[in-house]
Amino acid sequence: METGRPSSRSSNAVVVLGAGPAGLGTALGVSLSGAGRPVWVIEKKTVPGGLAGSFSWKGHRVDFGPHRLSPNLKNIRVLAKELLGPDCLVNKSQHGVQFHGRLYQFPPRVVDWVSPASLWEIVAFAGSFLASKLAWIVRRFEREDFESTVVSSFGRRFYDTIVAPMAEKVWIEPRRIDPAFVEQRFALVHPMVVLKKALFPHQDLNPSIFYYPRKGFQQLWDNMADYLERRGQKVIYEALPTGIEVSRDRVVAVDYEVGGRSERLSGEGLDLVSTIPIVKLLEILRGFDAGPLLEKARGAKFRSMFLVALEFEGPRALPYRTLIFPEKEFWFNRLFEQNAYSRETVEPGKSLVVADVTYPRGGEEGKLSDEEIVRRVREDLRRLPYVDEARVTAARVERVEFAYVVPDLESRRAFHEIHHGLKKIHNLHLTGRFSAGEYDNSDYAVDHGLALGAALAGRISQLEYLFVQHEKRDRNIVG
Ligand SMILES: Cc1cc2nc3c(=O)[nH]c(=O)nc-3n(C[C@H](O)[C@H](O)[C@H](O)COP(=O)(O)OP(=O)(O)OC[C@H]3O[C@@H](n4cnc5c(N)ncnc54)[C@H](O)[C@@H]3O)c2cc1C
Repeated sequence: METGRPSSRSSNAVVVLGAGPAGLGTALGVSLSGAGRPVWVIEKKTVPGGLAGSFSWKGHRVDFGPHRLSPNLKNIRVLAKELLGPDCLVNKSQHGVQFHGRLYQFPPRVVDWVSPASLWEIVAFAGSFLASKLAWIVRRFEREDFESTVVSSFGRRFYDTIVAPMAEKVWIEPRRIDPAFVEQRFALVHPMVVLKKALFPHQDLNPSIFYYPRKGFQQLWDNMADYLERRGQKVIYEALPTGIEVSRDRVVAVDYEVGGRSERLSGEGLDLVSTIPIVKLLEILRGFDAGPLLEKARGAKFRSMFLVALEFEGPRALPYRTLIFPEKEFWFNRLFEQNAYSRETVEPGKSLVVADVTYPRGGEEGKLSDEEIVRRVREDLRRLPYVDEARVTAARVERVEFAYVVPDLESRRAFHEIHHGLKKIHNLHLTGRFSAGEYDNSDYAVDHGLALGAALAGRISQLEYLFVQHEKRDRNIVG
């Protein structure tokens, strides 16, 4: 291939686009399988970890939203302990839910409910739950949508007061959401599961224990990237893929730019794994008619996110680690306190709270100035009796372009069709949140990457890998 650019011919190489959890997991899967295939990871940022990483500000280490590593998967437990050693903290969940002017702990605490208003809420939720079960007997053969699925599982009141406003804030108008998403996202807050957890606290049922790296979530990905490099694999930062050449239904070369230079990776037996947003991948495919798929990808919906980090005077700022705000009267979806995850991520004597706000990618909200965003968040904070907003000493806004794939039927169909179309390129593999379009957490992203890596290394069969892929779609999300 004569292109005039420096070319690294590496036979049998696996090229991975993106060094987030999915990309690093895949690279690790190939590497640990011991097949000797060289791996090149191409990452556009200066650090690994993607959305599950952290940013630095004023001596603090801040995660992109509240991140907990679920230890429910054996692979993840082992990896976290291996990579973090004594820096693998084991924390207990402490969530609060702000609802009807009051803060409740979740999982529920009896003491929160001993007021007439709270007792009324219990009776109303329980009554609505039982009514929905009776109604289900009559309606069970009707066609289900998101609303009817939630109502039949949780009751009308839970849908109207919590799920519908929260879904609209975080994702989209709820009626458009894929009903299958209910099982994946809400299975762990189902009334029966909560009751079972309270009576039989076992880790499989109880997602309240989580792992957290002492120096912030970023530490896990830094250590993973170091581990790969020590095994001779390459992670190239500040590198942007510019072209993927396809010939006879195979990827034959990957072009990228790094430090103002153009580079090319090619060679016999190459495999390409993409974890970058699907639109970005389709835009750089050459020698393959990606036009129709690109049109579908542009129709898929994503949510962007503002993160507003607020430094507070004093060692604690919130009553619980994470507070959830399902109601529309609050602009933000959540508040989390970084130092409550690990004290060592925030300067002594200070605390750090982060508010997250999501909006449609490309939407008008994206044009708001940092000052306006901070103003709105601080205005909401002043309405909370348990937060002393006057103690805020500094604020900073971080913008994330790709935060969520909207779980609506249209976007899910678009991803499905794109994947089917791209199967024609035999050595191209898609995994990760914005490439495969799956609503997963970092533990699943890594676990899936490990399986893909093992398949690419020939350690598990394609059939076994297919099983992992399908099984993963049915897993519940913890976190
Ligand atoms: C608010 C919030 C809370 C969350 N909470 C949790 C939690 O508690 N626990 C949990 O486990 N997970 C949580 N997650 C989910 C977790 O962040 C994701 O599952 C995980 O980051 C997905 O990994 P990924 O590798 O698929 O994608 P990403 O993390 O997006 O990684 C993709 C990588 O590709 C790079 N990239 C993008 N475009 C290009 C390009 N053109 N060229 C080269 N590189 C590129 C990016 O820089 C990034 O490094 C949360 C997410 C959010 C938004």
